[in-house]
Amino acid sequence: MSQSGLPVRADRDPSPPRRIAMLGGTFDPVHHGHLRSAVELREALALDEVRLVPASMPPLRGEPRVSPADRLALLRLGIGDTPGLVADSRELERDGPSYSADTLASLRREFGREARLVMALGHDAFLRLADWREPQQLFELAHVVVIDRPDHQAALPEALIELLAGREVDDVEALMVRPAGYLLRLRLPSRMAISATEVRQRLAAGRSVRYLLPEAVEAQLLSRDLYRHG
Ligand code: ATP
Repeated sequence: MSQSGLPVRADRDPSPPRRIAMLGGTFDPVHHGHLRSAVELREALALDEVRLVPASMPPLRGEPRVSPADRLALLRLGIGDTPGLVADSRELERDGPSYSADTLASLRREFGREARLVMALGHDAFLRLADWREPQQLFELAHVVVIDRPDHQAALPEALIELLAGREVDDVEALMVRPAGYLLRLRLPSRMAISATEVRQRLAAGRSVRYLLPEAVEAQLLSRDLYRHG
């Protein structure tokens, strides 16, 4: 019985489930396309946290230009004190390739089975989702939210269309009724045609990267000559 004399429903948790997103990537280096997307994603989905998770060894692309520790340090600098954004180093603490299914399983263990877990990714990364390890399992662990990118517009390959069958929902409310399993495509307000590839190319050529990434990140990578020699 509660203090008011009413019976307490032991099966009902009074706090709403936590809403957590992971945005994985190479962050080689972090730029405003990542950071602004993370802030707007948090607002659009009313998330408690967006965890930006650098991969130590991305399975489907070449070796990053800069060490995992440096990419994480730049990411931390870029996030600064932004509310609700977290630099999450869990993939750097594991050996071997960084599989998102392992990362989501680890987040699920941490936040519990009722948490609304979201794997967010840009349209370019989404196009290759069917090639990832255990793509079906990703949907057992989390929702997938795709962020539109103005610099990446290609149509979906057949294998991806099959993987997504019956999963797509139209709005955030429909997404959040379950802990995992749905797909939502989002067009965030500030779509930015910024890529790390362009940032690296500019740095290698000695051209300006001002306003493509936070000034603290720019200062750090210029002072350490991090991407200077292309
Ligand atoms: P690169 O040019 O080296 O491929 P990138 O800029 O795409 O890098 P990643 O670290 O590979 O950056 O991206 C991490 C995640 O952030 C991916 O899901 C990617 O699609 C997404 N992302 C990157 N840039 C943007 C952007 N400008 N707008 C929205 N999402 C982005």
